[in-house]
Amino acid sequence: RQHPLPLHILFLPFFAPGHLIPVVDMAAIFSARGARCAILTTPVNADIIRPAVDRANDSNCHGTDAPSPAVDISVVPFPDVGLPPGMENLMSLTPAHGADYNFKFIQAAQLLREPFDRFMTANRPDAVVSDSFFSWSPDAAAEHGVPRLVFLGSSVFARCCSETMLRTNPPETTTNPDDDPDDDARLVSLPGLPHRVQLRQSQMMDPRKRPAMWAFHKENDAADQRSFGEVFNSFHELEPDYVEHFRTTLGRRAWLVGPVVLASKDMAKRGSTDKAHVTDDCLRWLDAKPAGSVVYVSFGTFTSFLPAELRELARGLDLSGKDFVWVISSGTDGSEWMPEGFAELMARGDRGFIIRGWAPQTLILNHPALGGFMTHCGWNSALEAVSAGVAMVTWPRYADQFYNEKLIVEVLRVGVSIGAKDYASPRETHAVIGGEVIAGCIGRLMGSSEEGDALRKKAKDLSVKARSAMEKGGSSYDDVGRLMDELMARRSSGEVTRAA
Ligand code: UDP
Repeated sequence: RQHPLPLHILFLPFFAPGHLIPVVDMAAIFSARGARCAILTTPVNADIIRPAVDRANDSNCHGTDAPSPAVDISVVPFPDVGLPPGMENLMSLTPAHGADYNFKFIQAAQLLREPFDRFMTANRPDAVVSDSFFSWSPDAAAEHGVPRLVFLGSSVFARCCSETMLRTNPPETTTNPDDDPDDDARLVSLPGLPHRVQLRQSQMMDPRKRPAMWAFHKENDAADQRSFGEVFNSFHELEPDYVEHFRTTLGRRAWLVGPVVLASKDMAKRGSTDKAHVTDDCLRWLDAKPAGSVVYVSFGTFTSFLPAELRELARGLDLSGKDFVWVISSGTDGSEWMPEGFAELMARGDRGFIIRGWAPQTLILNHPALGGFMTHCGWNSALEAVSAGVAMVTWPRYADQFYNEKLIVEVLRVGVSIGAKDYASPRETHAVIGGEVIAGCIGRLMGSSEEGDALRKKAKDLSVKARSAMEKGGSSYDDVGRLMDELMARRSSGEVTRAA
């Protein structure tokens, strides 16, 4: 069906790789289906996403005379919140920056309303897809008569869990939270979900310890509920019970359009520094390895480890006997943590490949040599593993990661839990997990045993379903079409979203 004017969608992502990357892929997906998309962001973030946007536009250009719908980047200044010039993305935070710096980014998100309003006045789109972190955006969009869709980049499962947690404020436990952290009586049940979901209290955000963060989430949640609906980077077949729960029990509208990585034109997902030689060297190293023999170890874009944790991780990788690709955040000095013999092990060159800084994650996950992924359970990473058919060792730290671990290990059964117990933001201290435990989990995941075979088979099965979901006629393909039709019908009927 040919529409006279393409649907116009504005995307407003938060300033962090885990939020920006899927938004670029999503804009490319809508654009390939005939929408005109704009991504509103700041100069440094625009530079980060531009290569991926250019690649998407090149491949979406259909070679006809008609102007092809494209993804545009609308660049606005980064709000002045006292951050050093050029610091516009959470990725640039280092352990030397205090916790206040996180809040400066949240503050900057609040100040983006003014440039957003200017954009809306000049180019009123048919819909706004904005990050949950922009709690002002449903009302600001409504002032222009435009519906706002939420995008957070989380699983539907994690969304259902955090909703339950926020609404029950938080759920009751039966014992004093200051008791022994190993006391199982401190397990918290999230009521009303399709499965019995229990977490340790120490794995959940404690509103008393983080009142500002709790208030921020409450405010975002209230704004999300005032929105037109939510777009998810997930697919129906992955978490059908939770899609049903979100839609029916929570009464929210949802479209699942992923895994967006499967439509990505930017598989290397390079950051601001383009290190093509790292990609080439790493892939060549993997080429020499047997199928399914290598474990990939990476914890996303902010998680930092204490020297003692790095030491145990290095010991665990050594003890596991498996070959590994390990991404270590740049800036750590090996002399602080390298266990005895590890330098020699690395000097051999055949056991491990260390990447300092940005890794070509999706290329690594899709390499035939990959046999397992040790992950912090950031949703992009988890879904990229599912898409590639790779089973996981789960090592969550904070945000939605403990929820995602439950989904991966207990519901989907494609992972082995390392047993992390402490919710702690990237820069906080954690209980150190021993090398023997780490090696044991890698062995369970990658060794030939009934458990390992079942995990790996389930991961392969899910990747087949993920691919089908994105193909023409698949569930995610259809959700993209349904959402576009619905937005187009609103335009034709002249329906406007009214400010509350
Ligand atoms: N990523 C990457 N190379 C790296 C680190 C991360 O390509 O060295 C990508 C990864 O593929 C994923 C995103 O960055 O798409 C990280 O998002 P995730 O939700 O997994 O974790 P976060 O960093 O938000 O905690």
